[in-house]
Amino acid sequence: MEAQRLSTLRAYNSPGQDALKDALLENRIPRVVIVGTGFVGSTTAYALMMSGMAAEIVLIDRDARRAEGQVNDLRDAEVFSHTTRLFAGDFSDCRSADITVITAGVSQAGQRSRIQSLSETGTIVHDLVSNVCRQEPRGILLLASNPVDALTYAVSKWSGLPANRVIGSGTSLDTSRFRRRLAARYGVASANVHAYVIGEHGDSQVPVLSSARVAGFPLDEFCDQVGQPCEESTFTGIASDTRTAGVDIIDAKGGTYYGIGAALVRIIRAILRDEDAILTVSSLVPKSMELGEVSLSLPSIVNRHGIARVLSVALNSSERKALEASAEVVRRQITTLAQTTPIPGFSGNGSPSKERIAALTKSTRANGERVTPKEQWPGIPAWSRFKSNFTNPRHA
Ligand code: NAD
Repeated sequence: MEAQRLSTLRAYNSPGQDALKDALLENRIPRVVIVGTGFVGSTTAYALMMSGMAAEIVLIDRDARRAEGQVNDLRDAEVFSHTTRLFAGDFSDCRSADITVITAGVSQAGQRSRIQSLSETGTIVHDLVSNVCRQEPRGILLLASNPVDALTYAVSKWSGLPANRVIGSGTSLDTSRFRRRLAARYGVASANVHAYVIGEHGDSQVPVLSSARVAGFPLDEFCDQVGQPCEESTFTGIASDTRTAGVDIIDAKGGTYYGIGAALVRIIRAILRDEDAILTVSSLVPKSMELGEVSLSLPSIVNRHGIARVLSVALNSSERKALEASAEVVRRQITTLAQTTPIPGFSGNGSPSKERIAALTKSTRANGERVTPKEQWPGIPAWSRFKSNFTNPRHA
């Protein structure tokens, strides 16, 4: 009897059993690794800890002392928030992470534009991604380092991960700025404003006013409802404020981090809680979208598999042209980046022909009826064909 009990115990302690135990444990513990613990990384860690969503938050920085300092500072907030296992780690911790967030880069202070640091941040991110991918990570890579769209494209290619598992924070932040400004203009809560900023997280971003809704009403109808004037200059002012918001904050205080920290935690929430949330995040644009070889933001369904689906959005002809132009801007950044750090498979293929664009930008028929998104984006295939670009077991 004793011998049997001992063998059971030994079996329980065998390396195989321990591996199984660890695997089960890993599956149960939401772990987020944050690489880069400067303003953006540490703010994200703080916001994530306050949310209570991650059981483990691992911080990695080339400045190990800074990472250690951030961990100790964050631990001081634990008693007042949520029990969280926080530690300064290394790249081996990315293997079992649900999400690895890359915020490493060069400081925004003194920079006039997001692309100034392109080649420097490109080299940093390339090396980081190689280190992360050596661990064969099973989770999602979430990128915030700028210029985020060109880097999202490059990381997708450098990592060799399926397209759904590489996400850039993209215009999630710009969309929140846009919604907040529209909400303030009409005196409603931002939760009641549905509007997107798509394209590049940068100067060529496209605020989509034509399909913006307040409480379900198009903007002009909502203006009528509340007896307010519906002037184009108001909207262009809001769009312009949204575009320059980041630079204005950097001018005033040297960097932006609360907004992006909260945006990253929103994306993390959609993944960890398998929400199927629609967020404007950056990812490899499916060929069927007719925007050429590029990553940029379009409304996308985000769940535990990452990007479950990229959605089309109804655009009028000037918005579609602006989106084409934005794709071109990002493609030029990718071309520049590829000159210093080669990007496998990037041929620089651009937008469709002028005739094709003209066909895509038709927003009304000859009789004045509105063209449906399906007609406007005819290249978007049925999900069964589209899914071959992605490895999403839930939808497969
Ligand atoms: P920061 O200088 O405060 O922090 C950068 C951190 O990265 C530093 O701690 C540095 O030690 C670390 N780092 C650099 N190289 C590294 C490497 N190889 N391995 C590990 N760590 C490394 O800068 P920040 O203000 O936190 O900005 C970080 C990045 O986020 C920048 O690229 C910035 O442009 C970007 N950003 C993006 C958005 C967005 O909306 N996507 C918003 C704000 C900032």
